[in-house]
Amino acid sequence: MFIMSEDSQRTQGRDAQSSNIMAGKAVAESVRTTLGPRGMDKMLVDSGGDVVITNDGATILNEMDIEHPAAQMIVEVSDSQEEEVGDGTTTAAVLAGNLLGEAEDLIEQDVHATTIVEGYHEASEIALEAIAEQVNEADVDDEILRQVAESCMTGKGTGGLTAESLAETVVDAIRHVDTDAGVARDNVTVHTQIGASSNATELVPGIIVDEEPAHDGMPSEVEDASIAILDVELGVRTGDVDAEYAIDSIDQLNAAIDAEEGELEGYAETVAESGADVVFTTEDVNDRVANALANEGVLVFEGLGDSDARQVASATGARRVGDLDDLEESDFGSADRIHTETYGDDDLAFVEGGAAAETVTVFVRGGTEHIVDELERAIGDALDVVATALESGEVVPGAGATEIAIADKIRQEAAGIEGRKQLAVTAFADAVDIIPRTLAANTGRDPIDVLVDLRAAHESEGRAGLITSGDEVTIDDPFEHGVVDPADVKREAVESATEAATMIARIDDVIAAE
Ligand code: ADP
Ligand code: MG
Repeated sequence: MFIMSEDSQRTQGRDAQSSNIMAGKAVAESVRTTLGPRGMDKMLVDSGGDVVITNDGATILNEMDIEHPAAQMIVEVSDSQEEEVGDGTTTAAVLAGNLLGEAEDLIEQDVHATTIVEGYHEASEIALEAIAEQVNEADVDDEILRQVAESCMTGKGTGGLTAESLAETVVDAIRHVDTDAGVARDNVTVHTQIGASSNATELVPGIIVDEEPAHDGMPSEVEDASIAILDVELGVRTGDVDAEYAIDSIDQLNAAIDAEEGELEGYAETVAESGADVVFTTEDVNDRVANALANEGVLVFEGLGDSDARQVASATGARRVGDLDDLEESDFGSADRIHTETYGDDDLAFVEGGAAAETVTVFVRGGTEHIVDELERAIGDALDVVATALESGEVVPGAGATEIAIADKIRQEAAGIEGRKQLAVTAFADAVDIIPRTLAANTGRDPIDVLVDLRAAHESEGRAGLITSGDEVTIDDPFEHGVVDPADVKREAVESATEAATMIARIDDVIAAE
C-alpha cells in the first residue's frame, strides 16, 4: 500500500544517517581554512556575476546557496551564532561538522544514536563548566575590550587599516552607547564610504545619510538645527494637473499658471514659517519650491529612503509628518549640527550632536567596494563582541586555549561515565580539538605536534594557546598577548553546534516530496 506520492523519495536507516552526516561535514569543511588570524578568504561569485570576498563564516555559508536540508542546519548554526553573539560563526560550524564526523565513527562502532545524543549533551555541560573556569578574574576594562575587538578583527581584510586602530574606534563607539540600562548596540551604525586612497576611520556622534541638498543654493551647514521629516510631496500634485482647465483665453492660462505658482509658494511658505531649518522628505521637492526654500536658508533633502527617514527620526527625535497642514514645532527633532560633505562622487549628510548624539556612527573609508564590505562585516562583528564582553564582563583566552581546556576537562570527567556513553563523551572532546588543530594547520604548523605541545603547556601553565603575532607563532598564555574572546561566543558555539549535530544524528528517515 502506498501512503505517499510515488514521486517522493525516501532514505532510511544508516543510509539516511550517513548521507545527512556527510552533507553536514562537507559544509563545515568548506569554511575550515578561513578560521583564525591566518585564515584565508573566500571569493564567492553568484549567478549574476556579483562577487563577495570574505573571511566571515556566516557570510560564506549564506552566499553558498546550500540546499541539502542537513547541510542547511549547519548554516543555521552559523546564523544563530551571528545573531546571538555576532562572532564565532566559523568556529561553531566547524565544531558542528566535527561532532557529526565523530558521530559517524560511533555509529559505525554500533553505538546507538540515542547514546551519542546523551553523551554529547553531557559533554556539552562539562564544556560549559570548563568555559566558566577559563573566565578572566580581572575586570573587563577598556584595555580588555580593545583586545576583544582586535582578536575579532585580526586576519580580516581590513584594507590599509590595522585591527589595532580599528579596535580603539570600536571600543569608543560601544562606550558611547553604554548606559545604565545596558549597551544600546542598535545605536551604533557603520557607514562605509568608498574613497580612493583614504584609509581613515572616524567616530561621528550622530548619523550619516547618503543625501545631497535639494538645491545648490542651500546652506551646506546648519547649526542648532530644527529638523522636520516629511512624507509629503512639495510640488504640484499630479492629480491637480490633470484637472481639466478649459482654457479659452490667455487670461485663463495665466490664471492657471498663477494658481500653480501660488500653490508652490504656499508650500515653501508653510515650511519656512514653521521654523524648521532642515527638512528631510521621503518625496520629491519641486525645483521652484526648493529655490524658494534655498532663499529662506532652509536645507532640504529630498527622496529619502524609508529606512533613512526612520533613522533620522529616531536619532533626532523628530516625528514624521504626512500632511503639511499638520506641521508643528512639536514634531521637530534637533541636532547640534547638520553638514554635507562630498566624497568622490557621493554626497553625505552628517547629522551630529544634540538629540542625535545618543547614536554614533563608525565612518569608515576604504579603497574598493570589496574592501569596505568586508570592513563593514569585521567592524560589525567587533562591535557585537565588545558589547557582549562589556555586558557580561566575561572573557576567555582565545587562540585555542579555551578549547584545549574544554577537551581536557571532558576527558577527565569521561573516566567516570559508564558504558558506551563514555565513548560519545570522549568523542565530543576529540571534536573540540578541531579548533586548535585548525588554527595550527592554518598557520602552517603540524596539527598533531601543536596539539601535543598545547596540552603539555595547558597541563603545566593552565592556559595555552597558539598565538599569532605578526610573523611569529608561539605557544603561550593568550591573556598575556591580549588574545581574548567573549565567554558567550564560546558558550553559544558549544550549544548551537551540539544542538545541530545531535539533531542531525537522530534522523534515520528522510522523506522528500518531489
Ligand atoms: P570565527 O568565525 O569562529 O570567529 P575567526 O576566523 O574569526 O573565526 O577566528 C577566530 C579564532 O581565532 C578564535 O578562536 C580566536 O581566539 C582566534 N584568534 C584571534 N586572534 C588570534 C591571534 N592573534 N592568535 C591566535 N588566535 C587568534
Ligand atoms: Mg571571528
